[in-house]
Amino acid sequence: MSDCIFCNIINKNSPADILHEDDDFIVVKDIKPTAPVHLLIIPKEHIDSINHIEKKHRELIGDMFLLAKKTAHDYEISEGYKLAFNTGRKGGQLIDHLHLHLMGGWNEEQK
Ligand code: 5GP
Ligand code: ZN
Repeated sequence: MSDCIFCNIINKNSPADILHEDDDFIVVKDIKPTAPVHLLIIPKEHIDSINHIEKKHRELIGDMFLLAKKTAHDYEISEGYKLAFNTGRKGGQLIDHLHLHLMGGWNEEQK
């Protein structure tokens, strides 16, 4: 999808600091972080949202959580973090390419 920000990042048509890349995913820093550590786990396949996942995506979605767990470990926030899929405009979704927010790094009193 040429008008999709995340597809453009995945295809290297837009610049981004890619922290991790494998056959199925990229991980980037959110450009407007709302947590001390705010990363986005993004599948390379363009899927609009959780409303658009199908049975064929079961393994991909499972792998997304495993990558989130590994990334939390790598960025030393495994002690506590939040994972979120904003879904639909009323759910706060701004970019219609599935992504999992990984947020953490707060002190005890900040969360
Ligand atoms: P959503 O609101 O769709 O769940 O989340 C989209 C997220 O992507 C937002 O937190 C926003 O700050 C982030 N974002 C928007 N454009 C870009 C971009 O070009 N690069 C990166 N790394 N993050 C972006
Ligand atoms: Zn896309």
